Parts: sequence; C-alpha cells; structure tokens
Amino acid sequence: MSDQVEHRVPALPRGLLGKAVQAVIRGFRELATRFWASLWQIVAVAVIMASLVLIAGLSKAFALIGFASFVASVLLLPRHDAEIVQEDLARTPPASGRTAAMQLMAEALPDPVILLNPAGQVLFCNAPARGLFASLRQGSHISSVIRTPEFLDAVSAAPDRGRAVTVTYAERVPVGRRMAATVAPLSRGGERAGNILVLLRDLTEIERINQMRADFIANASHELRTPLASLRGFIETLQSSAKQDPAARERFLAIMAEQASRMTRLIDALLSLSRVEMNAHVPPSDLVDLNDVINHAKDTLEPLAREMGFRLEVGRFPRPAVVRGDRDELVQVLQNLVQNALKYGDRGGIVRIEAKHIPSIGRQAGRYAIAVIDKGPGIAPEHLPRLTERFYRVDVASSREKGGTGLGLAIVKHILNRHRGELAIASTPGKGSTFTVMLSEVKNALPERGTAVG
Ligand code: ADP
Repeated sequence: MSDQVEHRVPALPRGLLGKAVQAVIRGFRELATRFWASLWQIVAVAVIMASLVLIAGLSKAFALIGFASFVASVLLLPRHDAEIVQEDLARTPPASGRTAAMQLMAEALPDPVILLNPAGQVLFCNAPARGLFASLRQGSHISSVIRTPEFLDAVSAAPDRGRAVTVTYAERVPVGRRMAATVAPLSRGGERAGNILVLLRDLTEIERINQMRADFIANASHELRTPLASLRGFIETLQSSAKQDPAARERFLAIMAEQASRMTRLIDALLSLSRVEMNAHVPPSDLVDLNDVINHAKDTLEPLAREMGFRLEVGRFPRPAVVRGDRDELVQVLQNLVQNALKYGDRGGIVRIEAKHIPSIGRQAGRYAIAVIDKGPGIAPEHLPRLTERFYRVDVASSREKGGTGLGLAIVKHILNRHRGELAIASTPGKGSTFTVMLSEVKNALPERGTAVG
C-alpha cells in the first residue's frame, strides 16, 4: 500500500523549507476536502441565515457572525477517527496487484486475519475474522474489538519493531476463550509506514485437550499407585513381622492377589479405551445382527449374574436387527452396561435387557434401541451428565470395592461415537436406572456372521 502513496505525492524541495511547504499544501488540501464534503450544510445554513434576516429581521452583522462561525467549525474542528479513516479509505485507489493478492490469500485462510494501517485502524478483514467479531468494521480502530493491553501495545509498537510477535490473551465475553494473536508489520527494510497484519488463532480447544490429557495421566497414575502402594506394604510386612505367621501370610496373599487383579483390570480398560480412540475416525464397515450381540453378552454374563444372586431377563428383536458395527466392540458395550447393573443393582433382584425397534420418521432412519434396566439405588440427576467422563464415579469407594475402574462408561461412549450411536441414561434415585443404546438400522441387509440363538 505504501508503494501507491509514493506515486501520488508530488516531488518537493528537501530540508526544513520543503517540509513547511509540504505541511501548508497538506493543510490547504485538508481544508478544501472538508469544504467540499460539507458544501450542502454550508449552503443550507447560508439560506437559513438569509431567511432570518429577510423574514424575522435578524441583524445582518449577527447573521454574518453566525454563518462565519459555522463555516469555521466545519473547517477547523477535529473530527471523529472513523470518519477520517472512512474518507481515507474512500480516497484510496483500487487495491494494487500486491494488496489484491494479499486480500485473496487472506480470504482463503481458515483463521481470522485482519489488516491494519499503521495507526491500528482496520483496512480489511477476512470472513473468519468477521465471524469472530460481529462488530468489526472497516475503518474502526482494532481496540473496538480486542481491548487487551498487551495486544494493543504490540500493535502500536509494530511499525518500530519491524518483526512479528505473538501475544496470547483470554476473553470472557461473548464467550470465554484463549486466543493467540500474531502481530506482523508489513514493511520492507527500514520503512516505518507499512501496514500491520494480525493473525488470530483460537487456543481454547487445544488447551482443553492438553488439560484433559494431563488430567487423564494424573488420574491413571493415581489409580495404579494406590494398589501398588498396598502391594509394597504387604510385601514389607511379609518380609518382616508376618514372616513367621502362616495365617497372616495367607490373608495378606489373598489381598495382594486382589490388588494385582485390580491393576490388571485397570490396564485392560486403559488399553481398551486407547484402542477405541485410535479407531474413532474409522467408521465400522461390517454388518452385525444385534440379536447376536445380545446372545453373546447373555452367554458370558449369565453365570456371573447367577453367582451374584441376580436374574438376567433377556429380550430380543423379533427379526434380525442389522447395523454397521464392530461386533466385539458392541458386545463390550452391552457387557459393560450389564456388569454395571449387576455391580450397582440390588442383589437378589432382576436385571433386564429390552430390545426395541424405532421405525423411521420422515428423514430420520429407523433405529434399534437396547435398554439395560436395573432396580438398584439409582443415580442423582446432577451426576448423570458426567457419568461417561473418564474416572468419574458417583462414589469412588463403592466403585473400587465392586471392582470398578471408572472407565466402563467412557469406553461405552467412545464405542458408540465411533458407531454414530447414542447412549441415553435415565435414573430415579431409589428406583433404579435405565441405560439405553441406540444404533441406526441398515435396511435390506444380511449380517456377515450367523445369528446365534441364545
Ligand atoms: P465403574 O468402573 O466405576 O463402574 P463406569 O464408568 O462404568 O465406572 O461408571 C461410572 C459410575 O457411574 C460408577 O462409578 C457408578 O457410580 C455410576 N453407575 C454406572 N452404572 C450404574 C448403575 N447401573 N446404577 C447406579 N450407578 C451406576
């Protein structure tokens, strides 16, 4: 842009005199511009004054003084920033090849880009920037949308600094987010009057994922450290005080075996979760009959249910219920839900699996719903939205005592996400819980594995 300015300013004598002459010419030009811009207002005031003299008998001297004051105010009073920039922009000749190419490039970028003049006023912004700041206008100062002092300092220092800097800042309104702004002066070797390019990046999501990863590692280490500490304690006891006590040794070894299997369960669940996450973006392609999945889960869990004093009632779909899925993962979903119903349900009670076809409505495809219902103590409503978070448990001690890892429902959620399915949780404290899995049907398809009858 500065290259266009060079073409328009006529050559002037160098030195102090040259500068003075240049300033006077610039002053006259400014007055002329203001005069022409306000010509209609000046004519209107002249007509009003003349009418007042002729009709209302206003003194000519008063009328003349009034008119002169108005013209002086129009020509000399300082104007609003935005007004001046709008005028400057209007006077700017059509974008040169370089500027037009830059605008095109900025429009193609997925991140918000704003071009500022050296005074920090907006010359151009791309669509993502307009999406980010609804009130961003050409000609307004950048401080009207980003008020962070560090950012504004970086903008005002940009022409002198001559190199790009990145500033990170937090915003609370309209939504809480963390942003990174790269402020880059667009000047060529030693030139001070270049424009400034601002590139913005939303860091909120990246920082949230980093935080989740850190929390996950902290939780996983904590979960492993607890049984490990207990094992070390027992080993020390066996090496010292319980060395000669066969009864204590037997008791401690049983607890140690239980702690070791708790660690194994946790590591298995972590591996399972990481396997599902690795495949999260690869939708399953096999055709699976959900009746086959129900039968498999029933076969593996019925002995456990019996041992725990439960009756497992299993319903099935009247016809093959075919979905696109990974059979082993879908079996794991159902197993995790039934195991939870057995863990947290009331002993001696019933755990029911219900299968229901939901026909298609309008453009919504038909779906299959499998519900796992228990008559246990239920879950208070404030916990429901968080149940599928990793390591979230309503009662940590009760989960651990029942062999829980806090990862069962997180695995269910991840598997269902991969299958574009849904998990609905309904629970009434004191009455029980219903966990319902929903998957889209595949019409007119035969499953790739035979339907086993349970
Ligand atoms: P856990 O290994 O602790 O069972 P999950 O991810 O499977 O972990 O479940 C998370 C928490 O949800 C459990 O700790 C428990 O508090 C609660 N929960 C899950 N299923 C049920 C249920 N059927 N009845 C009552 N609470 C349940």
